[in-house]
Amino acid sequence: MTDDKQNTPVDNQEEIQMDAEGKTGLSELSAPLKSATPEIRSLRDLIDQVTGRNLTGIEKEADSGIAEIWPFPFLALVGQTEMKLGLLLALVNPLVGGVLLVGPRGTGKTTAVRSLIDLLPAVWHSKCHYGCLPEEVEIGGIDAICPDCAIKYGNGEPLANLEPVRLVELPLNSRLEDVVGGLDERAVLHDRMRVRRGILAHADRNLLYVDEVNLLGDNVVDAILDAAAQGRYTVRRGSIAATYRSRFTLVGTMNPEEGNLRPQILDRFGLRLLVRGLDDPSDRLEAYQRSQAHFNNPRKIVDLYAEETMIARDEIQSARDLLPEVTLPDDVAKVGLGIIESFKIASLRAEITLFEAARAHAAADGRKKVTVEDLRQVAPMALRLRRSKFITEYFENQEGEEDEILAALDKLPSSKKKPKRKKASASKKKKAQN
Ligand SMILES: [Zn+2]
Repeated sequence: MTDDKQNTPVDNQEEIQMDAEGKTGLSELSAPLKSATPEIRSLRDLIDQVTGRNLTGIEKEADSGIAEIWPFPFLALVGQTEMKLGLLLALVNPLVGGVLLVGPRGTGKTTAVRSLIDLLPAVWHSKCHYGCLPEEVEIGGIDAICPDCAIKYGNGEPLANLEPVRLVELPLNSRLEDVVGGLDERAVLHDRMRVRRGILAHADRNLLYVDEVNLLGDNVVDAILDAAAQGRYTVRRGSIAATYRSRFTLVGTMNPEEGNLRPQILDRFGLRLLVRGLDDPSDRLEAYQRSQAHFNNPRKIVDLYAEETMIARDEIQSARDLLPEVTLPDDVAKVGLGIIESFKIASLRAEITLFEAARAHAAADGRKKVTVEDLRQVAPMALRLRRSKFITEYFENQEGEEDEILAALDKLPSSKKKPKRKKASASKKKKAQN
């Protein structure tokens, strides 16, 4: 399990302003690039460029050590543009409300999530057991933080450090006690009753990654939902109780072949990414070669992508910094609301995710105003799988749903680019259903 502490969700309570910037597509990003690297104009550009790189002929390293410390580079993942874009948008703007990757086994979902480690932006992590942050004093007064932190705050001592967001994994076999925390036995030995922090407290201001989220026990799911809804949770053990902050970006993966996801938890995921296998045999070969190269010599592969990875991390940080200034013009908001209305989606989270993802998309593109083109790029991942009441209908509904979203988008004025449609053979989808 990863370390504790936390990070700051992006503060982007900006006022909505009128304006429409004509820029479409992806424009240049601010950070200067090294001359050795071909011109990279946006995160999307970076993904596209790096995806095409060939990596044959990597020798096995004599002693390659532990592969875990050299996770497969995110940018070395072949294809899967939507998956990559969705994950990056969630890093840029935590308010998109989490990401669910839906797809069969062996399509790189887990690899993709774990590879985010090298791209995670820096945020304020509390130094305190309970996750207190100075901003809470500004909002709720001195009583909003624990007594120890109140004293520190009074003395002008820092309550938080600026550190990278962490990827906190919630293992499938986690017990409720691991998830919410239990009595700290060491503290009991020292005559201090204290509740140990659980995974949810460790996930505060971090990414909470749940592999096979559809297979989690109901009590664990309920605890996650509770914390996600409140941004905090309380553990009671006998006479003592402790409240922990727990504001996390939920990243889940699931294979619908293996079981359903309760509608309540599905609704908690903002972006829904469909991860199908690679269709093109040459892509599959490339993916195979890269994964073999990583297996044989993980450090070499990480080194090969180090420069682009650094650029991508800087771009994500710049986009996060820009995000508070990114506004959603009324006319663009109206277009978005029209799509949702025509699509008859009940959950209000649809708007939140659609608009917040569009803001992230604009920020990643270095723009301060959301355009209809931003909506178009993010709408499929924000809106799909929202109407279906039963998870078993995921893939059945998907086809028609997708067509409707795209048809609705096509009717919009000045449509330049259409989002690329993944061609999945009927047989493959059949398989996914069973
Ligand atoms: Zn505290």
